[in-house]
Amino acid sequence: MARMPGAKYRPVVNVRKNGCRAHRGLVLHVQAGNNSPFGWFNNPISQASSDFWVSKTGEVEQYVNTGVDYAWAQGGGNPFYASVETEGYPGEKLTDAQVKGVAKIYAWGHKEFGWPLAIVDSTTAQGLTYHGAGGSAWGGHTGCPGSLRKAQRKDIIAAAKKLLGSTPETNPKPAPSKYVPPAFPKGLSPNHAKPSAKPLQKALKATGWLANDVELSDNYGPRTQKAVAGFNKKHGLNDAGVSYDPAIGPNGWALLFTLAYG
Ligand SMILES: [Zn+2]
Repeated sequence: MARMPGAKYRPVVNVRKNGCRAHRGLVLHVQAGNNSPFGWFNNPISQASSDFWVSKTGEVEQYVNTGVDYAWAQGGGNPFYASVETEGYPGEKLTDAQVKGVAKIYAWGHKEFGWPLAIVDSTTAQGLTYHGAGGSAWGGHTGCPGSLRKAQRKDIIAAAKKLLGSTPETNPKPAPSKYVPPAFPKGLSPNHAKPSAKPLQKALKATGWLANDVELSDNYGPRTQKAVAGFNKKHGLNDAGVSYDPAIGPNGWALLFTLAYG
C-alpha cells in the first residue's frame, strides 16, 4: 500500500491494478477545470484518472494505490511515472498553496520511491517531468500543463527540499562501484559490547541517523538501536523478522556503510 499521509484517499474505478513497472518520478498535469475530478475519474466512460489532484487551496486527493497500481493520465507513461492533476487552467499559475501541495507529494515520493529532487523534460529520466514531454506516445497533450506551470516545477522541487530538510539521507550519493563496505562483524547485536558498536555508530552519524553529540560506546545501546530501527524501516530491512528491528544484519550493514562512505 502506498497511500500518502495527509492526502484524502478516494479510490476510483479507472485504474490498472499491479500495473506499475518503475518509480521514475512524477508527471505534472493541468486539470483544465475546477473542483475535484473524483466523479469523472470514477466513471468508466471517462477512461481517465490520475494518482493525485491538488486544489488551488492546496488540498491533496489520491485516487489510486500509487507505485503498485497505475492511473490513466499519460498513455505510455502510466506504468513508469505517477501523475498529479492540478486544479485550474493552463493560463493560470499554480497558487502558492498548490505548489506546496505538489511539493508534499514529491517529498513523500522521494522518501517512498527514491524520486530524485530533479526537474527533467523527459519520458525516461527520473525526476519531475510534465505531460507534454511525452508527445503522441503520452496522448498528444502537448499543452499540458502549459508553460506557466511547467516553469513552476523549480518552485515545487525547492519546496520539497525544504520539507525534507531535516530528514536523514536527503541527498544520498549513488555509491561508486569501487567501494567495498567492511565485513559484517559477527555477533554484533543490541545490548552487547563485543564486538564494539563504535564503527556502526560512526556510520549512523555519517548518514544522519544518530545525532553527532551522542558519545561513541562499545555497547550497542538504546540510542543506537533506535537509529538502526529507523534505518531498517526506511529501507525495508528486518533481519530478525520483526518490524522496527533494532538489530543490523549483513545487508543493512553493507548498505549503511555504502551510504556513509561510498
Ligand atoms: Zn495532462
